[in-house]
Amino acid sequence: MERTFGIIKPDAVKNGFSGKIIDRIESEGFKIIGMRKLSLSKADAEKFYAVHKERPFYGELVAFMTTGPVVVLCMQKDNAVKAWRDLMGATNPADADANTLRKLYAESIEANAVHGSDSLENAKIEIEFFFSDKDLVA
Ligand code: ADP
Ligand code: MG
Repeated sequence: MERTFGIIKPDAVKNGFSGKIIDRIESEGFKIIGMRKLSLSKADAEKFYAVHKERPFYGELVAFMTTGPVVVLCMQKDNAVKAWRDLMGATNPADADANTLRKLYAESIEANAVHGSDSLENAKIEIEFFFSDKDLVA
């Protein structure tokens, strides 16, 4: 069974949507095998999003991700990476399909409620960024 990584971003936590998002994750058939609420340091946010370093929104993205606590998640399901991306919806909530998490809960293209790994390879890297093996309970 595949694993993926997700973040409930500061906007969604602040707006009181963590519980609704977790409920939806479980009702869509994901098993949550790791979950933690934490505040990202600037250094952690910079490292996590280093792949976007050259993009014009990098500085703002790092600043946004440190505005408040987040919830980090490791989720398991068949085809978890694609299933979680589909459940999240498009990066810009204006373009997201009805009933996706970003359509329901995002504020803007930046404050877009959730993060999700974009490949199996990155899921492994991102899971290891936040969780050690003993934190993951299937
Ligand atoms: P996704 O999160 O859908 O994989 P990207 O990896 O392209 O999207 O971008 C990472 C994050 O950077 C987005 O989720 C969003 O928070 C932010 N972002 C992306 N594009 C923009 C943009 N044009 N302006 C501001 N923030 C952006
Ligand atoms: Mg991405």
